[in-house]
Amino acid sequence: MERPGKIVCVGRNYREHAKEMGNEVPAEPLLFLKPPSCVTATGASIELPPGAGRVDFEGEVGIVIGARLRKATAEQSAAAVRGVVAANDVSAREWQKNDGQWARAKGSDTFLPLGEESRGPHDLGALTLVTRLNGVEKQRGSTSELVFPIPVLLSYISRFITLEPGDVVLTGTPSGVGALKAGDVVEVEVVGHSTVRSPVVAPA
Ligand code: ZN
Repeated sequence: MERPGKIVCVGRNYREHAKEMGNEVPAEPLLFLKPPSCVTATGASIELPPGAGRVDFEGEVGIVIGARLRKATAEQSAAAVRGVVAANDVSAREWQKNDGQWARAKGSDTFLPLGEESRGPHDLGALTLVTRLNGVEKQRGSTSELVFPIPVLLSYISRFITLEPGDVVLTGTPSGVGALKAGDVVEVEVVGHSTVRSPVVAPA
């Protein structure tokens, strides 16, 4: 798909993933941004940055916005969804923990593989997400399990950040995240709708 204008993400939106990271589920959505420059297409490599330490995959359902949302209700937000896209919120864990903010931990080049957009309408409460590492299933989740369901999440974001056509919202990752190493191939699928497949490389 074309490069999004911006990418708004939410942390800890599946109970089991919050638990596996030793975190509480937040009372309100925990928002962060990824820069458009970190987007990469299916088939393109994820590059492990030198000195990053552990870099994890996070399979996520991405939502593509079709109409401007500002201080929108959940109903208005649901109506403004244009499509869904498979997304991998690649995350450098040591930088995430130590930097005090997540700019390079989640925004380094190639840290957002995105599949092709599947235009809706879709049942936003019943999308299945699967992540495979070297062909082995590592994550399986459903948007029915989200702490903050998609229309609620979009409405919340739009209270602070105007969402515009072509923006992408990542909805959080289920449990089962794990580390990537050079030579791996990681694949995220929004089942029946969109897939993104990425070889992993460590540039010299
Ligand atoms: Zn994530």
